[in-house]
Amino acid sequence: MPRLKILFSLPECFPFAKTGGLGDVGGALPIALAARGHDVRVVMPRYRVTRKFESKPLAGPLGIPYGPGTLWTGVRRGQLSSKRGAVVPVYFLDHDGLYDREGVYGDARGGYGDNTERYSVLSRGSIELCRYLGFEPDVIHVHDWPTCLVPVLLDTVEQGTALARAASVLTIHNMGYQGWSSRDSYSEMGLPFSPEILGALDLNGQLNLLKAGILHSTIVSTVSPNYAREIQTKEGGEGLDAFLRMRGGDVMGVLNGIDEEAWNPEVDPHIAANFSAEDLSGKAVCKAALQREMGLPERPDVPVIGLISRLVGQKGVDLVVDALYQLMATGAQFVFLGSGDKSIEEVFQRASLSTPNVRAFIGMNEGLAHRIEAGADLFLMPSRYEPCGLNQLYSQRYGTLPIVRAVGGLEDTVDNGSTGFKFHELSSEALVGTVRWALETYAEPALFRSMQYRAMQKQSGWSHAAQQYEALYRFAVRKRRRALGQVRAVRL
Ligand code: ADP
Repeated sequence: MPRLKILFSLPECFPFAKTGGLGDVGGALPIALAARGHDVRVVMPRYRVTRKFESKPLAGPLGIPYGPGTLWTGVRRGQLSSKRGAVVPVYFLDHDGLYDREGVYGDARGGYGDNTERYSVLSRGSIELCRYLGFEPDVIHVHDWPTCLVPVLLDTVEQGTALARAASVLTIHNMGYQGWSSRDSYSEMGLPFSPEILGALDLNGQLNLLKAGILHSTIVSTVSPNYAREIQTKEGGEGLDAFLRMRGGDVMGVLNGIDEEAWNPEVDPHIAANFSAEDLSGKAVCKAALQREMGLPERPDVPVIGLISRLVGQKGVDLVVDALYQLMATGAQFVFLGSGDKSIEEVFQRASLSTPNVRAFIGMNEGLAHRIEAGADLFLMPSRYEPCGLNQLYSQRYGTLPIVRAVGGLEDTVDNGSTGFKFHELSSEALVGTVRWALETYAEPALFRSMQYRAMQKQSGWSHAAQQYEALYRFAVRKRRRALGQVRAVRL
């Protein structure tokens, strides 16, 4: 099979910038594809947080057509690499005015008001970068609303150019974020006036970048098969379900993998002791260390329940808030790590100060996230909706049984009573009931140990997902070439 040329155009990529699961995918999938022999490159903004990573400037600036003129950015080259030797070049668009800021999408005051412009420049810049490098990708893989203009550009302003041959794959990591803006902001996208582009973006008198991406990308994918089904329903489609249904067979679900190098209890450098499915003695050491670190009584017999999450409505953390007293009354210890909604942060902080068995750390803390996964016995994910979810996969790998609501990727990845515990109803009663069931199971060591073993044995790495993406890319390339009337005898 010929190797594919693939460009990832995305707003975040671990370790250069990460605010959630998209960042994890951006850091791992390109490497898994490169390991399969493909020519993969990544383009993203050079944020302030990205500056601490090594990169070299490329000669000459990149000119991006913008409105009637040209916007100039620098380009720097860094790389993603894996211990197994795969290397992926990462190109950073370097523009102080647009990207050298405290946050990625916003700061303490909220989202940046010029995000439409910041990500339009990234989208247009991704295509210009290909020209600049002389790189003609078979596939441009875009992620969420920030790079949804790419498929639209390929179908419009790029029509007839060599780059328009590229198939576009849009992966939706979260339907809740769609890139809405007012019609007036069309000019901030730096696009020529085009009824076709405006029509694709328009939704109820406003502009919606995700909708335009759904309509123009060759293939739409999302990060779990169950979420692919849910987003085509009124309940899960966040107002865009009709457009997804229009795409019918072009909407697919590929379950995310996890970075098995970064999240491996056998070698994880963040944790007090390493351990494996066969020998959990290190996990007991991690539990004691976590209890000490968080100022909880160091009790091996008391179950520790972890939660690591953006503290937002999607994650169902309000169910935990509503159920806090009942949860505390179970006698288990709770460790919460997260940031987001100020009112939830405050409840967790107050509980942390006033209760002996609850501790919270408000903020992002990668090391603590590893130590919670390693030291806890159980893990809470009561999500309202969950496109894939990564923490339940990390938890399983660390023998920390997840207690999840059966939605999206959580439904696909947790086997009830086998590799975790599930509840269906969106209520704190259902959550508490399932936590009690999990605690009863914890009280039966042989049963709990057998569940831990099964969870830890699960294969959740990227190699399977990379294989599925590869098939999806080849399908997209054939579809694109057919649409352009360019199918040749080439086997892709
Ligand atoms: P989402 O992308 O919706 O936030 P995922 O479960 O797909 O949810 O991915 C979340 C990622 O972000 C995981 O790697 C998780 O460990 C990490 N994460 C979330 N909050 C924090 C935090 N406060 N500190 C460290 N890591 C966090």
